[in-house]
Amino acid sequence: MTDLYDITIIGGGPVGLFAAFYAHLRQAKVKIIDSLHQLGGQPAMLYPEKTILDVPAFMHVSGQELIEYLKQQLSPFDTTVCLNETVEAIHQSENFFNIQTSTSSHVSKTVIIAMGLGAFKPRTLDLDGIHTFKNIYYHVQNQQQFANQHVVVLGGGDSAVDWALSFEKTTRSITLIHRREEFRALEHSVQTLHNSSVSVYTPYLPTRLIGKGDTLTHLELTKVRTTDTLTIPVDSLFVNYGFHSSIGNLKDWGLTLNRHKICVNTKQETSIPGIYAIGDCCTYDGKIDLIATGLGEAPTAVSNALHFINPKSRIQPMHSTSL
Ligand SMILES: Cc1cc2nc3c(=O)[nH]c(=O)nc-3n(C[C@H](O)[C@H](O)[C@H](O)COP(=O)(O)OP(=O)(O)OC[C@H]3O[C@@H](n4cnc5c(N)ncnc54)[C@H](O)[C@@H]3O)c2cc1C
Repeated sequence: MTDLYDITIIGGGPVGLFAAFYAHLRQAKVKIIDSLHQLGGQPAMLYPEKTILDVPAFMHVSGQELIEYLKQQLSPFDTTVCLNETVEAIHQSENFFNIQTSTSSHVSKTVIIAMGLGAFKPRTLDLDGIHTFKNIYYHVQNQQQFANQHVVVLGGGDSAVDWALSFEKTTRSITLIHRREEFRALEHSVQTLHNSSVSVYTPYLPTRLIGKGDTLTHLELTKVRTTDTLTIPVDSLFVNYGFHSSIGNLKDWGLTLNRHKICVNTKQETSIPGIYAIGDCCTYDGKIDLIATGLGEAPTAVSNALHFINPKSRIQPMHSTSL
């Protein structure tokens, strides 16, 4: 039998991370499930370098720094984190909720949905044979495994440029391909790229995957608005076209929605008792989608979830002076 948790949080963005921290302060047993391979939600995936000005107590903090601080704040506690799992359904049993994900199922006394704009998925390369070849990747886990290879990176944003520069130190050759002349990356990174040994092809598009069995061996490129093609060798291909988010089958979860947002009351309760929603995924009169707003909603949801589990539990917490 899977372990029963007090609170399972769907989504490990800033709001889900803070909700987990606060739940630990209230001594709850907590699990976070996220569809991505990493925690952090929009700040980590969409704007890691951008400076955020409107989070309390931080004059200037980048998206990635904010997430690192939230993870550090959570780190003294024992949180179960399940990554690469997309929640697809929540079923109610007598005493708990059964949460079905793309890969397994979880049981929890209460659920806090902090799924933001929805599950992030990498934008995929749309070419014949894309599902045949095993050496096409959408994120890097262990860079060392690509040492001595011909590595090709597709994309023109910060992340594509950063990967290319990072691979430069470890791989046999590294090629970066972008469909525009200009990169959409930090000026300093672009300057470093132009001074590096990375082979840069702009404006080029990948037009054909060539391989043997399940291994991609070559990539055909076509210069944009021409018929000029060239073929380059590939040992590993990294696609870095960014992410898109999807709320999936949220409308089948049995919750009252307003468009694609979950309706909550002032206790962050959804239309199903025991299920709460916070952050960008929820809506109420006057709701604003900001990190600060979502962070404020988290303690409300946690306190009411614990009161749901144990009606004797205080909604207004005792104030502690030490962890
Ligand atoms: C470019 C940009 C700049 C911004 N700048 C600012 C700013 O300066 N200040 C500010 O306050 N706000 C800013 N925002 C808004 C801010 O990022 C959001 O308000 C905030 O990220 C909401 O946090 P969240 O935790 O609710 O959701 P998210 O950050 O979206 O995190 C949700 C998490 O849930 C996961 N998830 C979703 N569906 C599922 C599922 N079915 N199963 C499992 N996991 C799932 C996702 O993978 C994701 O990790 C900006 C947004 C953008 C796009």
